[in-house]
Amino acid sequence: MKQFETLRASSLYCQKCATAMPVREKLLLVLPDKEIHDYLCTGCASSLGQREVTAGARVLARAMASSRSAAQPSFGI
Ligand SMILES: [Zn+2]
Repeated sequence: MKQFETLRASSLYCQKCATAMPVREKLLLVLPDKEIHDYLCTGCASSLGQREVTAGARVLARAMASSRSAAQPSFGI
């Protein structure tokens, strides 16, 4: 089974460290329709970025599972 891989940042540029640093992903907030993950520098623990995981990914997975449906889901292109 092919895994649906989302883009994940393994290192981001840190202004404090003045170089690209490996980041640690931390679940920051869980909302009914999305999750917000925080990327923290492993060197100085600064927040280097955030990623939102919307419910769209789950909806997509569900749509793929039940692809018989004729309805075309909109993903907000
Ligand atoms: Zn840093």
